[in-house]
Amino acid sequence: MIEVHSFAAGQWIAPGSDARPIESAITGEIIARAGNDRLDVQAMRAYARDIGGPALRALTFHDRARMLKALALYLRQHRQTLYDLSFDTGATQADHLIDVDGGIGTMLVFASKGRREMPDGHVFLDGPTEQLGRAGQFVGRHICTPLQGVAVHINAFNFPVWGMLEKVAPCLLGGVPAIVKPATATSYVTEACVRLIQQSGLLPEGTLQLISGGTGDLLDHLDCQDVVTFTGSAKTALKLRKNGNLMANSVRFTAEQDSLNASVLGPDATPGTPEFDVFVREVTREMTAKAGQKCTAIRRIMVPAVQADAVAAALSAALKGIRVGDPRQAETQMGALVSAAQKADVLQQIDRFSAETETVFGDPGDFAMADSKGAFLPPILLHCGDPDAAQVVHDVEAFGPVSTLMPYRDLDHAAALLNRGKGSLVASVITHDAQVARDITLASAAFHGRLYFNNRTSMEEATGHGAPLPHMVHGGPGRAGGGEELGGIRAVTHYMQRTAVQGSPDILTAITGQWVPGSAETSDKPHPFTRPFGDVAIGDTLHSPSRQVTLDDIETFAHFTGDTFYAHMDDAAARANPFFPGRVAHGYLLLSFAAGLFVQPDPGPVLANTGLDNLRFMKPVEAGDSIQVRLTVKAKTPRNDDYGEVRWHVTVTNQNTETVAEYELLTMNAY
Ligand code: NAP
Repeated sequence: MIEVHSFAAGQWIAPGSDARPIESAITGEIIARAGNDRLDVQAMRAYARDIGGPALRALTFHDRARMLKALALYLRQHRQTLYDLSFDTGATQADHLIDVDGGIGTMLVFASKGRREMPDGHVFLDGPTEQLGRAGQFVGRHICTPLQGVAVHINAFNFPVWGMLEKVAPCLLGGVPAIVKPATATSYVTEACVRLIQQSGLLPEGTLQLISGGTGDLLDHLDCQDVVTFTGSAKTALKLRKNGNLMANSVRFTAEQDSLNASVLGPDATPGTPEFDVFVREVTREMTAKAGQKCTAIRRIMVPAVQADAVAAALSAALKGIRVGDPRQAETQMGALVSAAQKADVLQQIDRFSAETETVFGDPGDFAMADSKGAFLPPILLHCGDPDAAQVVHDVEAFGPVSTLMPYRDLDHAAALLNRGKGSLVASVITHDAQVARDITLASAAFHGRLYFNNRTSMEEATGHGAPLPHMVHGGPGRAGGGEELGGIRAVTHYMQRTAVQGSPDILTAITGQWVPGSAETSDKPHPFTRPFGDVAIGDTLHSPSRQVTLDDIETFAHFTGDTFYAHMDDAAARANPFFPGRVAHGYLLLSFAAGLFVQPDPGPVLANTGLDNLRFMKPVEAGDSIQVRLTVKAKTPRNDDYGEVRWHVTVTNQNTETVAEYELLTMNAY
């Protein structure tokens, strides 16, 4: 018997006398118990806010990203423990890869994005500097800083590891401690994962706590610095979002809930095309992975009416080949549902479909595991002949290996059926016709958090209809909960407050850690290219000497590069152009001259010029004009132990101090 503990205020707390029993999905026997009504959830909240939050906020984004990477690698090393336990949830080894490895992979992506896309500081910048006054002395910028409370993550039973890690990774990266509350049915797997995390010693004290069992009155005491993220059924989401305290204090609440995701077979994807086969493979996988207990699983299968029979036959053949059985056996392709109660629930929902559908494939009373005490079901394919008149198939989620085939007349009809789910996490369209993809997008994107297109070109690399990726938004409108998770750094900012800051350039430079034009410059130090990464400071500036641009320069550059565009070569033609007063210097010539003016040629800490951002040519330069360069350190981002990136703000001006070009130069500088 596994005693599923909570981890509260630094202590492991055993289940109480009121603990709930947890059964094995495979045998139906009670294997664990979880829950303790006497858990002091308010002390947990205080511990997170007072100990965990300050410890996390003392670290920079890069510190926290490194911490996540180390943690993910530690978990990967110990994942066998999690696999071993997960079989009892009904999951196969292939399912473990989605849950355990998928969760670890998600954490690694956030670790990497944190280093690449966030500063090595405490303030995340959202968007560019806005000039709010005429002379640039009053500017504004949006910044994000971590909330100073705790994130309460309430998760569904189907992904005990991924469900926790996909929320915890962006949350910790953002600098906010978490209290995780897994679904009781699979909480023993989450508990084991939290034990590994604690054993790793990689997280500061107070940053991760675990509630096994009920949340007590936790939600009744949260405030504007706290966040609740919920994953589970629409019914529970509705109950929680109505919590009076959450509403009264505008506590952030996001819900990822069930939805009636659909897949559309494009009109072009007829039998014999690669798309037809991809469609059958994708639907089969979505129906059977995790025994259909995936929030993104395909519940509605939409096919051109003329293909309905062919698709029914192909899917039936594919589903017939799926071996349902004990997930511990290597040959098993589909395991059990999580519990007898979940199986009973799915059978009840299938019953509700019966007035609108007939069964194409699958008989719960007649399949290999029909006599088992475990929560096994076969894949069940239904057919709904009149999806316009039907209601239940568009409303009811059977959270198991069940899906309904429905015919559509034309693309408008397919889009209308897609949208009858009233908001979903994902819709997929299998088509080789880009116009079909565009038409469906315009008609339907507003109803779905993610649109997934697949065809012969993408099929080798496509990640699957049902796979939420850390890079892409997960969540959908309406029925899907109206929430948003993942989506790269968007997920991190969910745990932060966006604040518009306004003030003088110096004030904004100090707050953001990035040099804002108009703020103080330091130009009395040695050439910045001669100083290692650690020695160059934000605001360090080089003013170059000036250089005259001659007609000979322009002609030499034109013939040397082959860029003999008329604006540089033909005075009359250039004058006829509304942008030019006559022959002008090439923009690229100016960039090259600028480099010649600011560069320090000797070997030194500047290792490479790695790019150029936001280049604008603002005023033409004619033969006889002189140019001068100002180079200022705008931002610094460590990359590894050897070097870091310096972002230079570069302004090229003419003899009248008018700006002719502006850009940001990127260099890698040794420490
Ligand atoms: P559920 O019954 O709604 O439970 C979800 C979570 O809420 C569990 O941790 C549950 O804890 C907790 N909970 C229930 N009542 C609560 C309360 N009054 N206060 C605080 N917490 C409470 O859903 P489930 O059966 O675990 O999961 C299946 C559903 O989740 C499916 O409908 C599926 O579509 C959906 N889902 C959605 C996503 C997504 O990303 N959109 C992902 C996975 C699953 P206990 O277990 O202890 O009751």
